[in-house]
Amino acid sequence: MAALPVAGQPAPATTSTRVTPRVPGPSQEPGTAVTPDPAAVTAPGPGAATVSEPGHAPLSEPCVLLKVGEIVLKGGNRHHFERILQQNIRRAVRDLGIGVRLWNRNGVMVLRLADEHGPSQHGPSQHGPATGPAAEAAMDRVAERVSSVMGIARVCRAARVAKDPEAAIRAAVALAAGRTGSFAVRARRRDKRFPLTSAELAREIGRRVQRAYGHPVNLSRPDLTIAVEVDQREVFVYTDGAPGQGGLPVGMSGRALVLMSGGIDSPVAAHRMMRRGLRCDFLHFSGMPLTGPESVYKAYGLMYQLDRFQCDSRMYVVAFGQAQRRLASSGASRLQIVAQRRLMLKTGEVLARRLGAAALVTGDSLGQVSSQTLANLTALDDAVSLPVLRPLIGHDKIEIIGEARRIGTLALSELPDQDCCTLLTPRQVETRARVDDLHRIESRLNAGGLAEELAAIAQEYRPDHR
Ligand code: ATP
Ligand code: MG
Repeated sequence: MAALPVAGQPAPATTSTRVTPRVPGPSQEPGTAVTPDPAAVTAPGPGAATVSEPGHAPLSEPCVLLKVGEIVLKGGNRHHFERILQQNIRRAVRDLGIGVRLWNRNGVMVLRLADEHGPSQHGPSQHGPATGPAAEAAMDRVAERVSSVMGIARVCRAARVAKDPEAAIRAAVALAAGRTGSFAVRARRRDKRFPLTSAELAREIGRRVQRAYGHPVNLSRPDLTIAVEVDQREVFVYTDGAPGQGGLPVGMSGRALVLMSGGIDSPVAAHRMMRRGLRCDFLHFSGMPLTGPESVYKAYGLMYQLDRFQCDSRMYVVAFGQAQRRLASSGASRLQIVAQRRLMLKTGEVLARRLGAAALVTGDSLGQVSSQTLANLTALDDAVSLPVLRPLIGHDKIEIIGEARRIGTLALSELPDQDCCTLLTPRQVETRARVDDLHRIESRLNAGGLAEELAAIAQEYRPDHR
C-alpha cells in the first residue's frame, strides 16, 4: 500500500492505489469511540417513536430539530430528496459512537438518542429515553456534526418533554437560563386537546421567564425566541438554533470531479458545488518529481476539511512534473500555462468518466490570473467535452477569502507550497490563447494518450477519521 509521498522522493507510480494517511483535523476527537456501524443509526417513521406514552415521557430529553432547506420546494420528488438527506445525516454521525434515531415529523427532522439497548428495531424501549448531562453532551456533538450537512437550513437543540403544561413551561424556562436581552415565546398546538391554548401557553411561559430572570418581552425583534410545539405525543421546546449549511443534500445533483490545487479558490468552489447537491471527488496535480510533496499534504488536508460536508470523499493525486516537461519541450512557450491546464482538464475528464462524474469543477474566477481571461477560459473549455463548472467565476478574491475562512479551509490554503503551475512558467504568459496553436502543441505529444496515462497513475486517498 502506498503512503503520502515523502520529501525528496519521487511519487510511486502505482495504479490507483488506495491509501488512508492520518491527518488530524478539528472534527477528529482523540479517544472518540468508533462504531462505524450503520445499523446503529435508524430512521423509524413517526409511529416508531417508542417513548411517547404519558407515563414514560421524560422530564426533558435532549434532541435536535432540523429544518430542511430548499428541498421543501421540491414537490413530488421531495420524499426521494429527504431520503438522500437522511442517509447523509447518518453518514455524518456514524463515527461518533453515539446511537441516533432519525425521524421525520411534519417536515422537520428530529434526531434523538437511541436507548442504551440499541435502535428501535429491537422493539419498544424498556428503558425510556436518554436524559441527563451525558445525553445532553452527546446531543451537542450530534448537533455540531449535522450543522455541516448540506440541505439543512437550521439546527435547533431542543428538549422533548411530556405532554403536560407544567413540563413544557419548566423546559421553556430552563432554555432561557443564562441568556440576556429580550425574548418572545411562540407556541403552537397540533393537538387541540392540550389543556392550554397556544396563546395561554405562550403567556404563561412569558410570565414565568420574566419572573425567573427579569428579561423584557419583545415580540417584534426579540434577542431570543422560545418555540413550543405541542404535538400528538409530546411537546418540543427549543430556541432559534443556529444556521445550517442550507442548499441541497449532497448526491441529489449527481457527482463531479473537482480540480483542486493547494490554493484558496478550488476548495471554496468545491464547497459551493456540494451545496448545490453535487457529490465531489477531488483531483490534485503535484509537480513531483520536480517539486517536493508539500502540495499533496495541503490538498489532502483540504479534502479532509471538506469531507465534513459530504463524508466518504476520495482524492486522486497525479505526479505531473514529467508531463509539464514534455509540454515545455514540445514548444509550448507562452502557452505553457494554458497547455498545462488543458492537460489537467483532459486527465480529469478521463478520470471523471471512470468515476461516473458528469462534470469537472474548477476555482477559476474571471480575470484573476492570466490563464483566466475570457479567451483563455474558452481555450480551456475546448479541451474537454464534459461541462466545466466554475462557481467562482464572478467573485472577487476578497469574497472568496471570506468564504474560505468560514468553511475552515483558509489557514491550510495559505500554507506555503510549491504549486506545479509555478514550474516552467514562461516569462510572458499568453492572455489570448488560440485554440489552433494549442492543438498543434498537443498533437506533437499525443495529449489524449498522455491524459490516459496520467489518469492511470492517479493515486487514491481517503480521509482517515479514526
Ligand atoms: P486556487 O484557484 O485553488 O486558489 P490557484 O489560484 O493557485 O489555486 P489558479 O492558477 O487560479 O490556481 O488555477 C485555477 C484553477 O485551476 C484552480 O482553482 C483549480 O481548479 C485548477 N488548478 C490549478 N492548479 C491545480 C493543481 N495543481 N491541481 C489541480 N487543479 C489545479
Ligand atoms: Mg485561483
